[in-house]
Amino acid sequence: MNVLLIGSGGREHALAWKLAQSPGLDTLWAAPGNPGIAAHATCVDLTVADHDAVIAFVREHGIGLVVVGPEAPLVDGLADSLRAEDVPVFGPSKAAAQLEGSKGFTKDLCARANIPTAGYVRVTDRGAATIALDRTFGLPVVVKADGLAAGKGVTVATTRAEADEALDAIFVQPGGSAVIEEFLSGEEVSLFVLTDGAAMLPFGTAQDHKRVGEGDVGPNTGGMGAYSPAPVLTPELEEQALDTIVAPTIRTLAEEGTPFSGVLYAGLMLTADGPKLIEYNARFGDPECQVLMMRFGGDLLHLMLAVAEGRLAGEGAAFSDDAALTVVVAGDGYPGTPRTGGAITGIDEAERSGARVFQAGTRHDGPALVSAGGRILAVTASGTDTAAAQANAYAALAHVNVEHGFFRRDIGWREVARERP
Ligand code: ATP
Repeated sequence: MNVLLIGSGGREHALAWKLAQSPGLDTLWAAPGNPGIAAHATCVDLTVADHDAVIAFVREHGIGLVVVGPEAPLVDGLADSLRAEDVPVFGPSKAAAQLEGSKGFTKDLCARANIPTAGYVRVTDRGAATIALDRTFGLPVVVKADGLAAGKGVTVATTRAEADEALDAIFVQPGGSAVIEEFLSGEEVSLFVLTDGAAMLPFGTAQDHKRVGEGDVGPNTGGMGAYSPAPVLTPELEEQALDTIVAPTIRTLAEEGTPFSGVLYAGLMLTADGPKLIEYNARFGDPECQVLMMRFGGDLLHLMLAVAEGRLAGEGAAFSDDAALTVVVAGDGYPGTPRTGGAITGIDEAERSGARVFQAGTRHDGPALVSAGGRILAVTASGTDTAAAQANAYAALAHVNVEHGFFRRDIGWREVARERP
């Protein structure tokens, strides 16, 4: 089968690497792809926002499955346009992708389906926000812009002044809307589930490091590293999260005529009262996908096709018992404007040590590979536990040099401290 993979990040490199191992794959295409993905796929320049162009490409190249990596094309309805032409697609409809695209949509769904999550109020004007802060919430309080804000729309305010400032920034625009939430304390964990809208297949757990600085300080990023599994989500807690959060979500969306098909990524807070939903994403995490693919031992194409064609019931997912850990190398200045154009060397040496180096912001400059974005590489290794995977990832990284790049030296610290007290 010919497959078209949409995206250009480390997540898509990991998906391409795994799809390329599927016995059923003939040709893998990637739009737009990147130099790492090009080792497994033919990269094409397609304007993904032009759905007719994507459909024409699918027809011309006999594509049997389209895999959508990032969220933006999903929220933009690419999966709907493809399904309308009977093209199997891995990724949810625009309506179901609101789980990621609209925090208000998700909170209202939680309320309807009685799903454990932080108490909240949706506000569409500044006056209502003030009343909510005065009457309903203590401190800390969480203020979220409603809409896709690429991780930049959330403020955990410890003072009223911070909360007011965040709300002012949201309502400075006409049509601004916000969700104000109760603060939940606990440890955060990510749970991945494949679903075809009816059946549900747990697809691994992970924890990530969002902050740019060691010790989890500084501004938020797209993710500086991750590891899988997340043992803090015990099998009992995972079952509880599946029963009380994920299953009712899938059921309610189906009952309401907007079934979710693809990968559901639940961001959970493990509170004293059990797991509560922080957020949903409608696609794999980046860099969580890299560690999941490192551990996944099954046939990815087969499973994604089963999801796309509504035949997931009875399927299983085989994961290695080993842990996997990934360290992101980013460009100096990230998450602000990163310095790019730096020479990248040592990838082959790192991979000879058994690690995988997934590429994100890279490009060819003549024969050289150079940095071309904020997050550049995700150096990923396995080990018998998180500590061993961490040691292997950093040993591999010692071979890699990214001019004008940096990485955190403490990825996995929380779990390693639990394993090796
Ligand atoms: P991202 O894309 O980075 O995940 P986002 O814009 O989708 O961000 P959320 O995931 O809802 O926003 O929130 C971002 C972070 O803020 C969470 O990972 C969590 O650390 C913190 N947070 C969000 N809601 C709460 C809450 N109710 N209580 C405590 N912390 C919260």
